[in-house]
Amino acid sequence: MLTLDTPIEYVLGVGPKRAETLIAELGIRCVEDLVTHYPYKYIDRSKFYTVRECTEDLVYVQLKGRILQFEMRGEGRARRLTAVFTDGTGYMELVWFKGWKYVEEKLRVNTDYIIFGKPSKFGEKLNIAHPEVEVFNEKNLEKNSGLQAHYNTSEKMKNKFLNSAGLRKLMYTVFGDREFYIPENLPEDIIKNFGLMSRSDAMRQAHFPQNFELLRRAQARLKFEELFYIQLSIMRQSKLRELKYQGFVFDKVGEYFNRFYRECLPFELTNAQKRVIREIRTDMNTGKQMNRLLQGDVGSGKTMVALMTSLIALDNGYQACIMAPTEILATQHYQSISEQVKSLGVTVKLLTGSTRKKEREEIDESLRDGTLQIVIGTHALIEDNVQFKNLGYVVIDEQHRFGVAQRAKLWTKNIRPPHVLVMTATPIPRTLAMTIYGDLEVSVIDELPPGRKAIATYHYFDNKRAALNGFLAREIEKGRQVYIVYPLISESEKLDLKDLEQGYQSMVETFPNYNIVMVHGKMKPAYKDAAMQRFVSGEAQIMVATTVIEVGVNVPNASVMVIESAERFGLSQLHQLRGRVGRGADQSYCILMSKYELASDTRKRLQIMCDSTDGFVIAEADLNIRGPGDIDGLQQSGLPFDLKIANLATDGRLLQTARSVVKELLERDPELSLPQHSVLLRQLQRLQKGNINWGSIS
Ligand code: ADP
Ligand code: MG
Repeated sequence: MLTLDTPIEYVLGVGPKRAETLIAELGIRCVEDLVTHYPYKYIDRSKFYTVRECTEDLVYVQLKGRILQFEMRGEGRARRLTAVFTDGTGYMELVWFKGWKYVEEKLRVNTDYIIFGKPSKFGEKLNIAHPEVEVFNEKNLEKNSGLQAHYNTSEKMKNKFLNSAGLRKLMYTVFGDREFYIPENLPEDIIKNFGLMSRSDAMRQAHFPQNFELLRRAQARLKFEELFYIQLSIMRQSKLRELKYQGFVFDKVGEYFNRFYRECLPFELTNAQKRVIREIRTDMNTGKQMNRLLQGDVGSGKTMVALMTSLIALDNGYQACIMAPTEILATQHYQSISEQVKSLGVTVKLLTGSTRKKEREEIDESLRDGTLQIVIGTHALIEDNVQFKNLGYVVIDEQHRFGVAQRAKLWTKNIRPPHVLVMTATPIPRTLAMTIYGDLEVSVIDELPPGRKAIATYHYFDNKRAALNGFLAREIEKGRQVYIVYPLISESEKLDLKDLEQGYQSMVETFPNYNIVMVHGKMKPAYKDAAMQRFVSGEAQIMVATTVIEVGVNVPNASVMVIESAERFGLSQLHQLRGRVGRGADQSYCILMSKYELASDTRKRLQIMCDSTDGFVIAEADLNIRGPGDIDGLQQSGLPFDLKIANLATDGRLLQTARSVVKELLERDPELSLPQHSVLLRQLQRLQKGNINWGSIS
């Protein structure tokens, strides 16, 4: 008997060899994996055409008729098996360039067949190459009636007859099994309240839809189910955590914070900064552990928020820790923060991979005895031997650079969890933030410090290079500095590096009187840091680099960002890169260089960059153009499990609904202990098999 758990190998017509291919190519290990491999499109097969009606403009036709004769034609590569097909209204040639043996074994003359394929013109005659052919009988008529599902496959699968039609056949085998049964996995009242199709019907309709209306309802049900379980798995974990752990109560705003505000603040806070600090302050005082995501565009002043809220932790007698993704960034934070709090008498230390042993021992010691109040650093902070006396607050900067497992580690440094602020400059559209972070609170800095001029962005083709060089020279003569960034895409790293080196050479030749440094990820850290330092200090005027500079460096004097092969970058990445300039008071520029022929999507992307400097506008556009899988930073944060049918870019409304249903449900039954909810626990377990426990992390 087939169930969702039956290994794929045992489905009739699969066997060990094809099972191997299905597992390797699509990760289809069991029947459930197969039936959740949803079609990417549907073709209406309710209509039969006649041969006379066929033209090459038709995308697909379905015919019924007979094969009159077979013949091998042509030589060498043009050699092909042909068949003459007729339905009485005319003749159509069928052509196969390979798989002859199979065709000759399977097909007979003077038998009625259903033919399906794309008519195209070959010389004067219409033909159909590699048609789908099936015997004309009741069963096949029924199978092909209505909308026909089409599936993504791969070359390797096609070689094993696991093309779209092959997969459809497997689906038919599974759904045609009278004992095959798909249990419901949503509670009855939810099904009822939302008028959802049953799971079993929905899956069947998704693969063999009777009409568009039923297909739409089936898809809605399956999407809802997915989004519902994503929300449930994330929100349930945080609910449990909330019940289990108390948060520290920071009820004092004391000397450190107030003195800093009065005496040390180097500038007036923007209203957005003030608002966000207030939000955090309130949160830290509720008795619940804070988990907050702070989104703020590059240059919006997140570091100051991190510092001032850390001072609140200090005021309440706790230690704070600020973690950055790179050594350079951690060092910059350390320099600016220790400078700013100098007169307060706060102890601040930097801990990175290159901290000397002796220094490191001192830091470890003072973290344990509590005399070190703020520690700033990199991954080194989450190593096992770093222990705090009373860590109350953790700030994680540029969170998308940190893997989830790393965050989990910081979490375990206390018995009671510290308040956590995750800061990111990659604006994440609301729907995504909700999905990925569950009930993580979100604060937004939506205002830049005053006096910043919007970065002027231009898109040029290579023919403008001479003009570009002239422009760079003028900027440098004004005392400014220039970034030139090359893409680095791992598949062809060698080639990419060659691009970078050539770019560097040509800059050296064009500007013999300037100091030019080159930086890329493959360099030894010491060389890289030294080169970076030369640019940061102003000694070098031009930095030629790969995207290693994307995160964090702050050189207010740099006013031009040239991005080479800009067509190869994603929108968020372009935005991040652009954010490296425009940090001072001068007019800054971003120049996107690209080749001349561009896909229309790409052209759109570059145009959006020229039109907007708003990170949220850009993130939304990115989500719409590329879908969520490609958004920077999400690969690492990811979802509790893969989405098979729902689309975060377009199913925002459904997501909202799923979320509110889950919220309400968890309020009623946080432990899912009501009998009607046992089905939820079972399904969660199924989904989470082998996955990290995401909800307990962020
Ligand atoms: P990001 O949000 O990208 O981390 P930073 O915190 O690095 O931004 O701030 C960028 C620059 O803006 C820094 O030089 C910082 O000192 C400055 N800055 C931050 N807040 C303000 C403000 N309210 N007024 C003026 N300058 C500010
Ligand atoms: Mg920053």
